[in-house]
Parts: sequence; C-alpha cells; structure tokens
Amino acid sequence: MENILEIKDLHVSFDTYGGEVQAVRGVNLELKKGETLAIVGESGSGKSVTSKTIMRLLPKPAARIKSGEIWFNGKDLTKLSEKEMQKIRGSEISMIFQDPMTSLNPTMSIGKQIMEGLRKHQKLGKQEALQRAIELLDLVGIPNPEARVKQYPHQFSGGMRQRVVIAIALACNPKVLIADEPTTALDVTIQAQILDLMKDLQNKMQTSIILITHDLGVVANMAQRVAVMYGGKIVETGTVDEIFYRPKHPYTWGLLSSMPRLHSKTDELLAIPGTPPDLSNPPKGCPFAPRCPHAMKVCVEYMPDYTTLSETQKTACWLLDERAPKVEPPEIIAVGGAGK
Ligand code: SF4
Repeated sequence: MENILEIKDLHVSFDTYGGEVQAVRGVNLELKKGETLAIVGESGSGKSVTSKTIMRLLPKPAARIKSGEIWFNGKDLTKLSEKEMQKIRGSEISMIFQDPMTSLNPTMSIGKQIMEGLRKHQKLGKQEALQRAIELLDLVGIPNPEARVKQYPHQFSGGMRQRVVIAIALACNPKVLIADEPTTALDVTIQAQILDLMKDLQNKMQTSIILITHDLGVVANMAQRVAVMYGGKIVETGTVDEIFYRPKHPYTWGLLSSMPRLHSKTDELLAIPGTPPDLSNPPKGCPFAPRCPHAMKVCVEYMPDYTTLSETQKTACWLLDERAPKVEPPEIIAVGGAGK
C-alpha cells in the first residue's frame, strides 16, 4: 500500500527552565493510504508531541524540531513556512483533540465554525457552505441539522460536540486525520458511538487516520497497525494481530497485561511498576530498562537496534539478540476479536 505520510528520524525537544527535554528521539513512521495507525503509550511517551509536530502545532518558542523529515504529498512539512502550513491544516491534514469544548469557539454558532474551513479552503460561497455544513451535521449523525446549525456549542451534549468537531475536521475531506485521544473525555457508550462514526466516515471518505491513544481496547477496535512508543522512541510496531497476539517487547507485554480483559480469570490489573524516564536526561540505553523485569547489563549501556520480525513487525529489544536468554512472554489474553 502507498504511503501517504512518512516520518523520518524525527527529533523534537522542549527548552525548559530545567534544560532541554528530548520529547521525541528518532521516530520513523509511515502512514498508509486509507489505514488507521494507532500510536500507543503512557503519557509522556512522545505520542502527542509526534502528532502535533506533523501539524506543526507545537508550543512556541519552547518546542523545536531538532532534526528529521515529515513527508506529505511531496513536501517536507518540517521545512514549510507557517503560511504554507495554514493551507494544509484543516484542508489536507486535520486534527481532533480530546476535549471538544477546547476545539470549539463558544461565541460562534457551530454552522459558522464548520463553514469557516469550507469558505477558506474550498472557496465556497455563503449559501453553498451553509448547505454543506448542514449535510456534514447530518453525516455525523446530528438530528435536525437545519435547526442545529444555528446553535452554539453549549447547546450540545459532550458526545454531540465531538460529532461537531469531527464534522469540522472532515469538512474539507482531508487526506489525513489525526485523532488525539478523541473519546477519552466521553462516557463509554458515547465513546463507542464516536468510534463507530469515525470508522464509518473513514470507509466513506477513504481518510487515513493516526489515532493517538493509551486505550488498547480502542486500538483493537479501530486500527490496522500499531506503533508502541516509550521514552520518546518507537519500541515496537506491527499489525494489530502482531501486537496483540505476538508482541515481543516487554513494554508491550506490560501494556497488554494492564488492560482490562473480558475473559480474564482475575479482575486484577497489572500496572507497570515504576515511572517513565526523565527525558531531560534521557538514558543512553533502552529507556524501559529501569522498569523492565528482564533488563540485562547491555540494556542499560546500549540502545537496541530494531529486529525485523516480519514485513510489518519490528521490535527494539535486546531479548531478540541471539545471545540473549530465552524469555517467555507473560500469559496475555487478548480481547476477543482484536482488530476485527
Ligand atoms: Fe527490557 Fe532490555 Fe528489552 Fe529494554 S532492551 S525492553 S530493558 S530486555
């Protein structure tokens, strides 16, 4: 499948009073046409920073792209001016954030907010844009869209507001949609509805999605491929089946073990002991070493290279070195029908 977006050796840092924080440290990623790629990891792993870097929405002046490339449509996004990025944001690459209230303007009717992008990027006239806004509200499942298009964000429930945000994000039919924890702020029933809506719209519009989440249940439901991030690096990538049924990285094992499962014999959730590394002083070896029950001397000294396990699965762990002791993964009971 053709790549629509390609990240090459991306390094992003934040300059803080405490010194440089190396939030993203050499990320390589590809997003294929029409697929959903999930980026998973605990907070502070670098997943949100990676996605905001694609959109060039990093807080200034603290954050900076130190090196690397982000290729989209024949252009390296890291090299574009703010003016050039404005043309891409919202029209070719869109983003949905966790809290719909922060993405919506409370003083503007939702119709106007949907129409803004249509008028700016697609140069639609007022009437045409209004008509399209009504169609989009209908598409995302807002009942009575003709009346609701005139209403304001506070007149919508949380789930309905997230539908509006999705309508805005998809208004110009972007090629890539980045969804950063899009359902975390919503209750479970509404979460499922929003995820179903995103899947349905993806089928209709052929949008490629980058889904940032810490929730592996959402990944199983939505994604075809997964990148697991830890300490600013991708430690394992693979298809959903590979990550859920044949994971090789101890951090992925930990994430899966801490996931609530339907068929587990026990209710106990196994949290990963310890805390993520301090990226103002990043470890020279494997970032997971202080928390890894299988860490060896070499892990602390040297960062492991990626081992290619299949056409789609790559893992950075010294356990895959032929000289390493054989370690069996913990019993992992994946959620029923993962990824299907
Ligand atoms: Fe654990 Fe070493 Fe593998 Fe890192 S490289 S995950 S410390 S075994």
